[in-house]
Amino acid sequence: MDCIFCKIVEGSIPSTKVFENDRIVAFNDIQPAAPVHVLIIPKKHIPTMNDVTEEDDALMAEIFAAGRQIAKELGVDESGYRLVNNCNPDSGQLVYHLHIHLLGGKPLGPLIG
Ligand code: 5GP
Ligand code: ZN
Repeated sequence: MDCIFCKIVEGSIPSTKVFENDRIVAFNDIQPAAPVHVLIIPKKHIPTMNDVTEEDDALMAEIFAAGRQIAKELGVDESGYRLVNNCNPDSGQLVYHLHIHLLGGKPLGPLIG
């Protein structure tokens, strides 16, 4: 499958990983939009938020738990951070492998500006 993030999971495309377990991996965004910009992804290929099912409930909870933990480790838990998912074209989704952006390290401004 021609998916950039599956290749990052496999290790055939390099990335700077900040967290990994058997089910999820988190790595720095290649074009950071903030001092902290991490992408948290499931290792299994799920194209968009619309493709998440009840079977993924525990996986999604784990992704958000990793977000909280990484925010703390990177020192933005108190200053503040944002967890964002883009779904389908109107959101600007570019990579069709589910990911949650963790953004922080500066005032992020309004979500809709
Ligand atoms: P989306 O618009 O799909 O929500 O965000 C995709 C994100 O993936 C973008 O912020 C983009 O910079 C990041 N990205 C795209 N290709 C790569 C890559 O090869 N490596 C890393 N680390 N990030 C990538
Ligand atoms: Zn994939």
